[in-house]
Amino acid sequence: MNTEQYQIEVSGIDVDVIRKDIKNIHLAVYPPTGRVRLSSPLSVKKESLRLFVISRLGWIKKHNRNMNSQIRKPEREYIQGESHWVQGQRYLLNIVEKKAAPKVEIRNKKYLDLYVRPGSDKSKREEVIKEWYRELLKSQIPSLIKKWEKELGVEITDWGVRQMKTKWGSCNTDDRRIWMNLELGKKPKHCLEYVVLHEMIHLKERHHNERFKALLDKHMPGWQSVREELNEVVYF
Ligand SMILES: [Zn+2]
Repeated sequence: MNTEQYQIEVSGIDVDVIRKDIKNIHLAVYPPTGRVRLSSPLSVKKESLRLFVISRLGWIKKHNRNMNSQIRKPEREYIQGESHWVQGQRYLLNIVEKKAAPKVEIRNKKYLDLYVRPGSDKSKREEVIKEWYRELLKSQIPSLIKKWEKELGVEITDWGVRQMKTKWGSCNTDDRRIWMNLELGKKPKHCLEYVVLHEMIHLKERHHNERFKALLDKHMPGWQSVREELNEVVYF
Protein backbone atom coordinates (compact mmCIF):
# COMPACT_ATOMS: atom_id res chain seq x y z
CA MET A 1 0.00 0.00 0.00
CA ASN A 2 1.23 3.48 -0.82
CA THR A 3 1.75 5.45 2.39
CA GLU A 4 3.39 8.79 3.00
CA GLN A 5 4.24 10.02 6.46
CA TYR A 6 5.56 13.42 7.52
CA GLN A 7 5.18 16.11 10.16
CA ILE A 8 3.85 19.67 9.86
CA GLU A 9 3.71 22.48 12.38
CA VAL A 10 0.58 24.59 12.72
CA SER A 11 0.40 27.38 15.31
CA GLY A 12 3.09 25.75 17.40
CA ILE A 13 1.43 22.33 17.29
CA ASP A 14 3.26 19.42 15.66
CA VAL A 15 0.96 17.26 13.60
CA ASP A 16 1.88 13.78 12.35
CA VAL A 17 0.43 13.42 8.88
CA ILE A 18 -0.19 10.05 7.27
CA ARG A 19 -1.42 9.99 3.69
CA LYS A 20 -2.62 6.61 2.55
CA ASP A 21 -5.27 4.71 0.68
CA ILE A 22 -8.30 5.63 2.80
CA LYS A 23 -11.59 7.36 2.04
CA ASN A 24 -11.90 10.10 4.68
CA ILE A 25 -9.76 12.51 6.69
CA HIS A 26 -9.30 11.55 10.35
CA LEU A 27 -7.95 13.86 13.01
CA ALA A 28 -7.11 12.60 16.47
CA VAL A 29 -5.43 13.86 19.66
CA TYR A 30 -3.79 11.16 21.76
CA PRO A 31 -3.01 11.01 25.47
CA PRO A 32 -0.91 11.46 27.44
CA THR A 33 1.07 14.11 25.59
CA GLY A 34 -1.66 15.40 23.27
CA ARG A 35 0.03 14.10 20.13
CA VAL A 36 -1.98 15.15 17.08
CA ARG A 37 -2.36 12.76 14.16
CA LEU A 38 -3.99 13.43 10.83
CA SER A 39 -4.77 10.61 8.40
CA SER A 40 -5.82 11.52 4.91
CA PRO A 41 -6.56 10.03 1.51
CA LEU A 42 -3.66 10.41 -0.96
CA SER A 43 -5.96 12.43 -3.21
CA VAL A 44 -6.10 15.39 -0.79
CA LYS A 45 -3.37 17.98 -1.45
CA LYS A 46 -0.81 18.80 1.26
CA GLU A 47 -1.78 22.48 1.38
CA SER A 48 -5.44 21.51 1.89
CA LEU A 49 -4.39 19.37 4.86
CA ARG A 50 -2.69 22.35 6.48
CA LEU A 51 -5.85 24.43 6.01
CA PHE A 52 -7.89 21.57 7.41
CA VAL A 53 -5.76 21.55 10.59
CA ILE A 54 -6.09 25.34 10.91
CA SER A 55 -9.88 25.03 10.67
CA ARG A 56 -9.82 22.46 13.48
CA LEU A 57 -7.48 24.34 15.84
CA GLY A 58 -10.31 25.13 18.27
CA TRP A 59 -11.18 21.46 18.45
CA ILE A 60 -7.52 20.44 18.94
CA LYS A 61 -7.08 23.00 21.72
CA LYS A 62 -10.21 21.79 23.47
CA HIS A 63 -8.99 18.21 23.38
CA ASN A 64 -5.56 19.16 24.59
CA ARG A 65 -7.12 20.97 27.52
CA ASN A 66 -9.25 17.98 28.36
CA MET A 67 -6.18 15.83 28.24
CA ASN A 68 -4.69 17.88 31.02
CA SER A 69 -1.14 17.50 29.79
CA GLN A 70 -0.45 20.00 27.09
CA ILE A 71 2.35 22.29 28.14
CA ARG A 72 3.89 22.83 24.73
CA LYS A 73 4.01 26.34 23.36
CA PRO A 74 5.40 27.93 20.25
CA GLU A 75 9.21 28.09 20.42
CA ARG A 76 10.60 31.32 21.82
CA GLU A 77 13.38 33.00 19.89
CA TYR A 78 14.30 35.57 22.57
CA ILE A 79 14.31 38.42 20.10
CA GLN A 80 13.28 42.05 20.33
CA GLY A 81 9.50 42.62 20.58
CA GLU A 82 8.63 38.96 21.17
CA SER A 83 5.75 38.15 23.56
CA HIS A 84 6.65 36.59 26.89
CA TRP A 85 4.26 35.67 29.68
CA VAL A 86 4.98 36.35 33.32
CA GLN A 87 2.42 35.22 35.88
CA GLY A 88 -0.45 35.48 33.43
CA GLN A 89 0.54 38.84 31.95
CA ARG A 90 1.94 39.35 28.49
CA TYR A 91 5.09 41.45 28.09
CA LEU A 92 7.14 42.51 25.11
CA LEU A 93 10.76 41.48 25.25
CA ASN A 94 13.20 44.37 25.07
CA ILE A 95 16.83 43.42 24.68
CA VAL A 96 19.35 45.79 26.28
CA GLU A 97 22.96 44.97 25.49
CA LYS A 98 25.25 46.14 28.26
CA LYS A 99 28.66 45.20 29.58
CA ALA A 100 27.37 44.25 33.00
CA ALA A 101 25.89 41.30 34.88
CA PRO A 102 22.73 40.09 33.09
CA LYS A 103 19.37 40.88 34.65
CA VAL A 104 15.66 41.00 33.87
CA GLU A 105 13.25 43.78 34.81
CA ILE A 106 9.57 44.46 34.22
CA ARG A 107 8.97 48.03 33.02
CA ASN A 108 5.71 50.01 32.73
CA LYS A 109 3.61 46.84 32.99
CA LYS A 110 4.42 46.31 29.33
CA TYR A 111 8.06 45.48 28.78
CA LEU A 112 10.33 42.73 29.92
CA ASP A 113 13.77 44.32 29.79
CA LEU A 114 16.46 41.73 29.31
CA TYR A 115 19.96 43.03 30.02
CA VAL A 116 22.64 40.88 28.45
CA ARG A 117 26.24 41.36 27.41
CA PRO A 118 26.74 42.45 23.77
CA GLY A 119 26.59 39.51 21.38
CA SER A 120 24.71 37.16 23.74
CA ASP A 121 22.98 34.49 21.68
CA LYS A 122 19.57 32.86 22.00
CA SER A 123 20.69 30.20 24.47
CA LYS A 124 22.33 32.78 26.74
CA ARG A 125 19.21 34.96 26.67
CA GLU A 126 17.04 31.95 27.39
CA GLU A 127 19.25 30.95 30.31
CA VAL A 128 19.04 34.42 31.88
CA ILE A 129 15.25 34.53 31.58
CA LYS A 130 14.81 31.00 32.93
CA GLU A 131 16.99 31.83 35.90
CA TRP A 132 14.83 34.88 36.52
CA TYR A 133 11.63 32.79 36.41
CA ARG A 134 13.24 30.38 38.85
CA GLU A 135 14.06 33.14 41.32
CA LEU A 136 10.56 34.56 40.93
CA LEU A 137 8.98 31.21 41.81
CA LYS A 138 11.46 30.59 44.60
CA SER A 139 10.45 33.87 46.20
CA GLN A 140 6.75 32.91 46.20
CA ILE A 141 6.66 29.19 46.93
CA PRO A 142 7.80 29.23 50.61
CA SER A 143 4.82 31.29 51.82
CA LEU A 144 2.41 29.07 49.86
CA ILE A 145 3.94 25.96 51.39
CA LYS A 146 3.73 27.48 54.85
CA LYS A 147 0.07 28.36 54.35
CA TRP A 148 -0.90 24.89 53.16
CA GLU A 149 1.21 23.07 55.73
CA LYS A 150 -0.90 24.79 58.34
CA GLU A 151 -4.23 24.26 56.56
CA LEU A 152 -3.60 20.62 55.62
CA GLY A 153 -1.71 19.62 58.73
CA VAL A 154 1.19 18.16 56.76
CA GLU A 155 4.88 18.97 56.59
CA ILE A 156 7.23 18.82 53.68
CA THR A 157 10.97 18.41 54.06
CA ASP A 158 12.15 19.89 50.80
CA TRP A 159 11.00 21.52 47.59
CA GLY A 160 12.47 22.74 44.34
CA VAL A 161 11.83 24.20 40.92
CA ARG A 162 12.82 22.46 37.72
CA GLN A 163 11.95 22.25 34.06
CA MET A 164 9.46 19.44 33.42
CA LYS A 165 8.02 18.40 30.08
CA THR A 166 4.68 16.82 30.91
CA LYS A 167 3.80 17.75 34.49
CA TRP A 168 3.18 20.96 36.40
CA GLY A 169 4.44 19.49 39.61
CA SER A 170 5.39 16.28 41.32
CA CYS A 171 5.49 14.90 44.82
CA ASN A 172 7.72 12.26 46.33
CA THR A 173 5.55 11.16 49.24
CA ASP A 174 8.28 9.01 50.86
CA ASP A 175 10.77 11.86 50.99
CA ARG A 176 8.01 14.45 51.48
CA ARG A 177 9.53 16.53 48.72
CA ILE A 178 7.70 18.50 46.04
CA TRP A 179 8.88 19.85 42.69
CA MET A 180 7.31 22.72 40.78
CA ASN A 181 7.64 23.15 37.03
CA LEU A 182 9.65 26.21 35.99
CA GLU A 183 6.96 26.92 33.35
CA LEU A 184 4.61 27.93 36.18
CA GLY A 185 6.34 31.32 36.15
CA LYS A 186 4.33 32.09 33.01
CA LYS A 187 0.97 31.27 34.56
CA PRO A 188 -1.15 33.39 36.94
CA LYS A 189 -0.16 33.09 40.58
CA HIS A 190 -3.33 31.22 41.55
CA CYS A 191 -2.22 28.47 39.15
CA LEU A 192 1.03 28.18 41.10
CA GLU A 193 -0.94 27.93 44.31
CA TYR A 194 -3.17 25.23 42.86
CA VAL A 195 -0.14 23.12 41.92
CA VAL A 196 1.45 23.59 45.35
CA LEU A 197 -1.81 22.55 47.01
CA HIS A 198 -2.29 19.62 44.62
CA GLU A 199 1.17 18.21 45.31
CA MET A 200 0.86 18.74 49.06
CA ILE A 201 -2.49 16.93 49.14
CA HIS A 202 -0.59 13.93 47.81
CA LEU A 203 0.99 13.69 51.25
CA LYS A 204 -2.48 12.80 52.51
CA GLU A 205 -3.65 10.85 49.47
CA ARG A 206 -1.31 9.37 46.86
CA HIS A 207 -3.91 8.76 44.17
CA HIS A 208 -6.20 11.00 42.17
CA ASN A 209 -9.26 9.33 43.62
CA GLU A 210 -12.51 10.60 45.13
CA ARG A 211 -10.83 11.34 48.44
CA PHE A 212 -8.19 13.40 46.68
CA LYS A 213 -10.85 15.38 44.81
CA ALA A 214 -12.85 15.90 48.00
CA LEU A 215 -9.76 17.42 49.64
CA LEU A 216 -9.30 19.75 46.68
CA ASP A 217 -12.99 20.70 46.79
CA LYS A 218 -12.67 21.49 50.47
CA HIS A 219 -9.54 23.61 50.24
CA MET A 220 -9.88 25.20 46.81
CA PRO A 221 -13.48 25.23 45.57
CA GLY A 222 -13.52 25.77 41.82
CA TRP A 223 -10.08 24.18 41.35
CA GLN A 224 -11.29 22.65 38.07
CA SER A 225 -11.31 26.01 36.33
CA VAL A 226 -7.81 26.76 37.61
CA ARG A 227 -6.64 23.42 36.24
CA GLU A 228 -8.24 24.28 32.91
CA GLU A 229 -6.46 27.63 32.85
CA LEU A 230 -3.22 25.87 33.62
CA ASN A 231 -3.49 23.59 30.64
CA GLU A 232 -4.66 26.17 28.19
CA VAL A 233 -2.24 26.59 25.33
CA VAL A 234 -1.60 30.26 24.70
CA TYR A 235 -1.34 31.17 21.04
CA PHE A 236 0.12 34.39 19.73
ZN1 LIG B 1 -1.25 14.62 41.33
